[in-house]
Amino acid sequence: MNAPTATQHLLPEINQREVPAALIEALKARFGEQCSTAQAVREQHGRDESSFEVPPPAAVVFAETTADVADVLRLASQYETPVIPFGAGSSLEGHLLAVQGGISLDVSRMNQVLSINAEDLTVTVQPGITRKQLNEEIKSTGLFFPIDPGADASIGGMTATRASGTNAVRYGTMRENVLALEVVTASGDVIRTGTRAKKSSAGYDLTRLMVGSEGTLGVITEITVRLYPLPEAVSAAICSFPSIEAAVRTTIQTIQLGVPIARVELIDHNTVRMVNAYAKLGLREEPLLLMEFHGSPTSVKEQAETVQEIASEFGGNAFEWASTPEERTRLWTARHNAYFAAVQSRPGCKAISTDTCVPISRLADCLLDSVAETDASGIPYFLVGHVGDGNFHFGYLINPEDPKERETAEALNHKLVTRALELEGTCTGEHGVGLHKMGFLVDETGAGAVDMMRTIKRALDPKNILNPGKIFAL
Ligand SMILES: Cc1cc2nc3c(=O)[nH]c(=O)nc-3n(C[C@H](O)[C@H](O)[C@H](O)COP(=O)(O)OP(=O)(O)OC[C@H]3O[C@@H](n4cnc5c(N)ncnc54)[C@H](O)[C@@H]3O)c2cc1C
Repeated sequence: MNAPTATQHLLPEINQREVPAALIEALKARFGEQCSTAQAVREQHGRDESSFEVPPPAAVVFAETTADVADVLRLASQYETPVIPFGAGSSLEGHLLAVQGGISLDVSRMNQVLSINAEDLTVTVQPGITRKQLNEEIKSTGLFFPIDPGADASIGGMTATRASGTNAVRYGTMRENVLALEVVTASGDVIRTGTRAKKSSAGYDLTRLMVGSEGTLGVITEITVRLYPLPEAVSAAICSFPSIEAAVRTTIQTIQLGVPIARVELIDHNTVRMVNAYAKLGLREEPLLLMEFHGSPTSVKEQAETVQEIASEFGGNAFEWASTPEERTRLWTARHNAYFAAVQSRPGCKAISTDTCVPISRLADCLLDSVAETDASGIPYFLVGHVGDGNFHFGYLINPEDPKERETAEALNHKLVTRALELEGTCTGEHGVGLHKMGFLVDETGAGAVDMMRTIKRALDPKNILNPGKIFAL
């Protein structure tokens, strides 16, 4: 394996193409107030939750229909200008940054539920609807959409990054839950992939190709996803442990025994302290697992008893139950706010997030050595994990003005990824490649696979206008 040097991942290559004035005029003529060149609007669309600074796009177009998206792409293709699709702007790896200039195509106004097919457990939505908004709108059906990244991301952005979240251990990720798409191609044509049928052998699986393509192959304008019946019974519990290892070993055994646990999230003692301060909670400041069980009342009881037994073998304390929906919401909100709690714990810092994911049997090997290395580095950090999936995140809280801190954090990240790849895992379980993990992609898949991705990109986007400079260099 050719391991990249830590410095390869330090800063993105910026090579902004000039955006022709004639294109901006054409966009303004076609879109009127839906097209903005205001500095504040451009800046808001030219950054994300990553730690990189890149000059903003030249303009932002707010699409309201698929025809709007198609017209933007036709004009951008004519003027050979980059287009960066924008959902909710919560991505973490530099996905939205205009490293090659161009315009931002914001689809957040396309936020309607188009059809609910409760009897088939599917819903078709526009890309700008957020996961919380979707669940609000389908509440009366008794169904829910389980995928829940910490941020209130858009379903289009989640599709484009192949996102997951705390429920993935039971319900899968966007890869398993997207059935069909409408996509606008680089030349402005509208195509459909997949159907509402549960399975299909019809040709290449273009839906899977688009899921995780990070805006580089097409702009997603409609998404059909699976829904699930709201579970009859839900119980959530917290269990604290004497060490991270004990929490991790409990998780591994739970998964290996086939307990259909819905959520099992690790928070280390540092991060519990940050969450307590941010959300005014009184959680024990020890490594803990947050868990949720779904099913019939009997099955929930059985699952909880099994996990309790496993936890006590590893020295876990008695479960503290969050029984009412309000208590559960408070708990999971605290988990989802861990990132913001951590960032607030060091004013002015930026978080560099890791996202390795390994087969469940290798989780302890991957995580424990990395904790020791990170402790030794002196960099403040948070640690949370969707550990039931073998996926966890360190967030190194760096002072962005201090190049040494950035370099230390990147070196830690590099070691962690190298370890995860040696353990047959991945550099990114759910956040995607964006800019930050481009070097790691080659290490993970090999040059041949990245070359195949390049061939696909060149065929579908010959002028390289769709979010260029992301995932791999052309
Ligand atoms: C606090 C916090 C917690 C998070 N937790 C998780 C987590 O648990 N799991 C997880 O998976 N992620 C997590 N994330 C990352 C982020 O929320 C996800 O990557 C999410 O899927 C991004 O969605 P978005 O709508 O914000 O997309 P954006 O950030 O707007 O865009 C992301 C990428 O998708 C492309 N894109 C957006 N919309 C479209 C479209 N319609 N068509 C084509 N391309 C498009 C963009 O060009 C970009 O490349 C977290 C982020 C934060 C800040």
